[in-house]
Amino acid sequence: MLERTPLTLRKFQILGQPVHLSPDYVRWTIDRMERGIGTRVVTMNAEIVMEANKQPQLAEILQKADLVTPDGAGLVMALKLHGVQQTRCAGIEFGEVLLEEAAKANYPVFFYGGKPGVADRAAEKMRDRLPNLNIVGIYDGYIDNQAQIAMTEQLSIDRPKIILVALGVPRQELWIDRHFHLCPDAIWVGVGGSFDVWSGVKNRAPMIFRKLNLEWLYRFGQEPSRWRRMLALPQFALLALGERIRQGKLAVR
Ligand code: UDP
Repeated sequence: MLERTPLTLRKFQILGQPVHLSPDYVRWTIDRMERGIGTRVVTMNAEIVMEANKQPQLAEILQKADLVTPDGAGLVMALKLHGVQQTRCAGIEFGEVLLEEAAKANYPVFFYGGKPGVADRAAEKMRDRLPNLNIVGIYDGYIDNQAQIAMTEQLSIDRPKIILVALGVPRQELWIDRHFHLCPDAIWVGVGGSFDVWSGVKNRAPMIFRKLNLEWLYRFGQEPSRWRRMLALPQFALLALGERIRQGKLAVR
């Protein structure tokens, strides 16, 4: 007999913020959706952990999220310090695999975010790659209030199954939290700059940077204005190491 996926995953806390553990995050999310259960997904990195420790509202949303994946070498390393082996799950890859599954099973998909025209181009590229992909709505991340109302109406009428929100952190997490009730059986994912990459506006770090855990360095090269945000990375590393030394033992719950 086929074993059903558990409804909740093991949760680990790093510096007070959650990370779930799973051998296959996408499968777990789709299994829930097929059973009519929606999922709010956060793909977590060191910057978000540090931000959540300053913003109680974001911290609350992270604790409420149904799935928090480790998106970022810092999180994977912090887990390793606690003896937990977990493969990284980046938002962009999570989004791509979800879209492949959506194309196979004809799940309606919705794109929201990015500069005007970017989500359209990203959708076009994805349709070229996955001709059966059914994208039922596309909105850029700078629409006015009237278009926002039209968009939320469309969400509650069309009830897409996969909703990708690319507004950056924490805007996308806050937006998903406020709108989840419109499609409570869908998968909602904050995918950050993924539309920029899919559309070709920006390049993803080449594999060699990813393998060496230096994706942050590549992004810094592309967008030096991110330097202030990136100061969170060494701070996170020091604090995570300190936490491990203080705890001295595993803390899975
Ligand atoms: N963005 C948006 N609306 C806004 C602010 C930002 O759609 O009001 C988009 C922006 O165009 C970019 C994405 O959000 O495509 C943020 O990408 P980034 O790589 O900074 O994501 P993060 O690293 O914060 O996840």
